[in-house]
Amino acid sequence: MPLQSFIDVPPDSDFPIQNLPYGIFKPNDGAARPGVAIGELILDLSVVEELGHFRDVTAPRIFASDSLNAFMALGRPVWKKTRQVLQKLLSAENGTLRDNTEFRARAFHKQNEVTMQLPARIGDYTDFYSSYHHAHNVGTMLRGPENALMPNWKWLPVAYHGRASSIVVSGTEVKRPHGQTKPPDASAPVFGPSKSFDFELETAFFVGLGNSIGRPVSIDQAEDHIFGIVLMNDWSARDIQTWEYQPLGPFLAKNFCTSISPWIITLEALEPFRQNLSAQGPAPLSYLKRANDFTFDIQLEARLQTAKMREPQTITRTNFQNLYWSIAQQLAHHTVNGCNLQPGDLLASGTISGPTEESRGCMLELTWRGTNPLKLSSGESRKWLEDGDTLSITGWCQGDGYRIGFGEVSGCIIGA
Ligand code: MN
Repeated sequence: MPLQSFIDVPPDSDFPIQNLPYGIFKPNDGAARPGVAIGELILDLSVVEELGHFRDVTAPRIFASDSLNAFMALGRPVWKKTRQVLQKLLSAENGTLRDNTEFRARAFHKQNEVTMQLPARIGDYTDFYSSYHHAHNVGTMLRGPENALMPNWKWLPVAYHGRASSIVVSGTEVKRPHGQTKPPDASAPVFGPSKSFDFELETAFFVGLGNSIGRPVSIDQAEDHIFGIVLMNDWSARDIQTWEYQPLGPFLAKNFCTSISPWIITLEALEPFRQNLSAQGPAPLSYLKRANDFTFDIQLEARLQTAKMREPQTITRTNFQNLYWSIAQQLAHHTVNGCNLQPGDLLASGTISGPTEESRGCMLELTWRGTNPLKLSSGESRKWLEDGDTLSITGWCQGDGYRIGFGEVSGCIIGA
């Protein structure tokens, strides 16, 4: 029998007592503040703190804030103790919260009655390119199967620096960008709305503990700098990208909007789903090599709902384990030159594609650059996303009698 809460949690809920993800919520009648999700409710951490339950765990007033940055900066021993306090307070056996009607009335909010915000102030954002099948598919389209991977790809986790200011929380409408594109047969570029609008199914992790400039984080210490993981949709304008990306990489094709899910799933919650990272060949250089490097068994899906559809349709199913490079390797590589990461920085996986056609993580691959359109249950077809389409990404780890869910990241596309 898995651990139970006195709060009623349906068996298919994303948020049982084993999960306890952190987010920032805003009640209709109050300021934004940190909470943890439990079933269909949110436990207000500023109230729990005010009543002294974190007295022996954190600095005072860590949760009297509209972001989680200060808590993230405290490091894994504090995160673990905080989780223990919360699991104890919420467990079916403990009466402290369960039997205190006044406390319960103040401390709990219904998720469907609040607005979720970004969980942290994101100072910097980096997007990796760590799925072998994604890199191989895209490389095959551009250069053919013999030269699909660039020579560096299996030696280092390739990435680009993205833009933090345009990261938005799930539910935010996504405006189709305008930009320069050059049709293949045209002699000069044209300006207008993107005609090949895409999603990218990704996850991203939040940096907790930062590092000082000039002080790399070793591969063995990297895990202790990672607070937790969210779902991410890296909206992409492929036609803008094709014309602008050489020689310095993605720019306006990517930085107009990036959506993330509101709840951060901690590494503590993911621990039962830890798996060994698959063997890498060639063996990575020693600064990227760690005994028992790890990944997680996280199932991931993308669903598309057009304006005509009554229900979303699943268009891809993939898994976090399809990432070739581990999150520890990504963090160690990012800091190896002395680059300083800060609490609240966001490091994304890159599109997560699997080996099969059904597990490709973006329209570019699913329709093979538009040559093989997706056929939808409504009778419609899609080469790319259209205005009025809603794209949602979900993720979960299936436990024995419970699931560690990520909620979702969702966005509806509106015309420019
Ligand atoms: Mn991306």
